Amino acid sequence: MENKPKAQAKRLAIVGAGIAGLAHAWVASQRGYRVTVFDRSARASGASIRNFGMVWVIGQPDSIQTIAMNSRERWLEASQKAGFWIQPCGSLHLAHQPDEWQVLQEYYAEHRHGPRGEHLRLLDQKETLAKSPAANPFGLLGSLWSQTECCVDPTSAVRSIPNWLHRTYDVDFHFSTAVTHVESGSIRTADGSSHPFDQIVICSGDDFASLFPEAYRGVPIRACKLHMMRTIEQPDAYRIGPHLAGGLTLRHYPNFRNCPTLSALQQRIAAEAPELDRLGIHVMASQNHLGQVVLGDSHQYGDEIEPFDTCDIDTLILRELRKIIQIPSWELQARWQGIYAKYSEGLVYEQVVAPGVRIFTGLGGNGMTLSFGLAQDAWERWDSECP
Ligand SMILES: Cc1cc2nc3c(=O)[nH]c(=O)nc-3n(C[C@H](O)[C@H](O)[C@H](O)COP(=O)(O)OP(=O)(O)OC[C@H]3O[C@@H](n4cnc5c(N)ncnc54)[C@H](O)[C@@H]3O)c2cc1C
Repeated sequence: MENKPKAQAKRLAIVGAGIAGLAHAWVASQRGYRVTVFDRSARASGASIRNFGMVWVIGQPDSIQTIAMNSRERWLEASQKAGFWIQPCGSLHLAHQPDEWQVLQEYYAEHRHGPRGEHLRLLDQKETLAKSPAANPFGLLGSLWSQTECCVDPTSAVRSIPNWLHRTYDVDFHFSTAVTHVESGSIRTADGSSHPFDQIVICSGDDFASLFPEAYRGVPIRACKLHMMRTIEQPDAYRIGPHLAGGLTLRHYPNFRNCPTLSALQQRIAAEAPELDRLGIHVMASQNHLGQVVLGDSHQYGDEIEPFDTCDIDTLILRELRKIIQIPSWELQARWQGIYAKYSEGLVYEQVVAPGVRIFTGLGGNGMTLSFGLAQDAWERWDSECP
């Protein structure tokens, strides 16, 4: 049984019940704060429930492997304690072109004797198909297997964590409650009531307009919109196995940047299919506990974002996915868009905006992977700054 905070403990308010806000609520409760979380939605509905549910350690740069692995451990612990589904499924980067296979070999050669090496293996075509029946065998040259990735169903995970935090740490959740004003020592909500707090953390995702808009001006932080789809439950309890990615993804995450062949691969794709660069398309697949396969994605930034989800983007995503995977049913059960905040000069935009008031957002495409680890890292620093 974990200890509930004592009545005289410092009071912390968190704005936002997405994964970033929940990660702070968990860490701060464990450090003895009395935590209250406010979210304007009736239940979490932002980026944190609209994603693949990939805990994507492989995509993170070497410099933050400890944070990423720590975050992974926290996911496993949270799943066990809060009772949501998680699968340590690993991942495959599939190579269907010689330059993709070359990049994977270069990456493996760079890392095989380092700290990541024990989690990585290069697989030939037969070994790849043994790991995932969903890998498209046509033209498949091989793959990079990584065992560190996990899969959660973001909707059930993110919506079950508040109940667990309330039960275990007495964290108070106020949903359907917009925070309209924050200053040192207090917040005001849309019903006009004011609430005193010793510290406040604003995890408001891609809302740069409501609270401290001046703190975002001139800062390299932007909204990014992604298209996503989900198939119906696959027949006959079919499982794809690991998360699946292909050659397009090698352009997207920073971990492959040292591979000498990457620039040739980027140039080939830019020449063959410029629309993929224009729409920020790379393709991935994960499978939830219900057997549905989650498919995506595209990236449109800032002023490029329109409210309309044009069908050509989904068509391109499906076209590229069919090149690298095959699944029994491609029938779609849902389409949606997600918007996250992307800070381009670091992992997260962390800013003190008034004494005892901090902004924490901008996690980009890595918020599910890193929030737990980054929140722990942040509180170690913050508590040592003001003991
Ligand atoms: C399509 C898509 C796929 C992704 N896939 C992955 C993945 O597989 N792996 C991975 O690691 N990351 C992934 N990401 C990134 C990840 O989902 C985000 O980085 C993360 O969810 C951001 O969390 P957040 O808590 O900052 O924001 P959000 O989840 O958007 O939460 C912000 C919350 O703040 C609330 N709020 C805002 N303003 C106020 C206010 N004034 N008062 C009260 N409440 C307020 C909102 O209602 C919202 O609930 C993906 C993102 C998207 C969109």
